[in-house]
Amino acid sequence: MFNLTYSYRLQLNRQQEQTYSEWLETSRPVWNFALAERKDWYRSRSCPINTCSLHSEYIIPADAPRPTFARQCKALTSARQQNPFLQRAHSQMLQQVLRRMEKAFVSMWESGHGFPRFKKPGRMRSLLFPQLGKDPIQGNRVKLPGVGLVKMRMSRPIPDGFVVKQAQVVKKASGWYVLLTLQCDVDCPDIIPHGEALGIDVGLSHYLATSAGEIVPRPRFFGTLQRQLRSLQQRASRKKKGSNNWRKAHLKVARLHEHIRNTRRDFFWKLAHRLCDGVGMIFAENLNFKAWARGMFSKHTLDAAHGEFLHILKWVCWKRGVFYAEVKPDGTSQTCPNCGIHTGKKELSVRVHDCPECGYRTDRDVAAAQAIVKRGLAAVGHTVKMLGEGLSGRSPRTQESPSL
Ligand SMILES: [Zn+2]
Repeated sequence: MFNLTYSYRLQLNRQQEQTYSEWLETSRPVWNFALAERKDWYRSRSCPINTCSLHSEYIIPADAPRPTFARQCKALTSARQQNPFLQRAHSQMLQQVLRRMEKAFVSMWESGHGFPRFKKPGRMRSLLFPQLGKDPIQGNRVKLPGVGLVKMRMSRPIPDGFVVKQAQVVKKASGWYVLLTLQCDVDCPDIIPHGEALGIDVGLSHYLATSAGEIVPRPRFFGTLQRQLRSLQQRASRKKKGSNNWRKAHLKVARLHEHIRNTRRDFFWKLAHRLCDGVGMIFAENLNFKAWARGMFSKHTLDAAHGEFLHILKWVCWKRGVFYAEVKPDGTSQTCPNCGIHTGKKELSVRVHDCPECGYRTDRDVAAAQAIVKRGLAAVGHTVKMLGEGLSGRSPRTQESPSL
């Protein structure tokens, strides 16, 4: 089963906009109430008995059950029966607020993310509808709960064989959007490894390097836009809070954020498609392992954008029939891709791989990408060819071999 998410701009009329704005403000107290309930429960239990403060006792009975998603859902259902304010909003959508809360807690336990936060007015930005009616897409309109048919800007068609599974309506700085989760309803055959193989190494000094010797530099707009963003943020912070100018400045910041996201994504899509040209397999590193394997501990070294890129790459590969797999990256920068000997750890300042054994010389990130492709090929059971015969020099893209 393959899922993908497409985003479209919505053109809500005034009535529709009012309904959804209201629903956003209805889901906010649901979130805050559910969070308070969970927080209180944990606090009442995390207090060691001998240091328990006499001033702030929690009056939660010792046998009170832990607030789970199911329990909170039940409580919501009965609250809805008495509260007309809650009744006005879509019930499944409100349950999804509780679902999101559950997820936030799970990721707090499992990945050490922070405690979920209470939401101030205007901070609730999305409505998730887990189900839509039959045939929700009609031409360039989508049928959404509570508001009926809404015009969408069909920036791209919904691909054949996909059905809409759920919809998330998001309020952004530039307007309202819908994120449609599409699911492939036909059996999608797995892609088997075939053809030319390409290894890629995402990094810091370049955006990425390929085993074919191509080095993709970090796009210049990354830096320029970040600088612009910083100066806008500074300007916004100097405005009087709540004033008209403050609001305007913050809107500018939000718009630029959105622009940066879009520009970055556009770059990712184009790059992913280009990498797929003429190859049958792509191997990349598993980023979760990469950080510790290379001793990159700072958050900035590999930001979330690299993960987003690999996600897009995976999807583009699938769509174009290219086999995609991730390999464990430990040691890929320490072995010679040509003869396979261990060359030892390189300092980050050493930009060239120069093998003392066989004399193979290339850019260090290209060498890492070549080690990745070798590892990937070994894992899928293809014969591993030495660089001279196989990895370079066969496909047209590798003819401009590394200049080092
Ligand atoms: Zn060597």
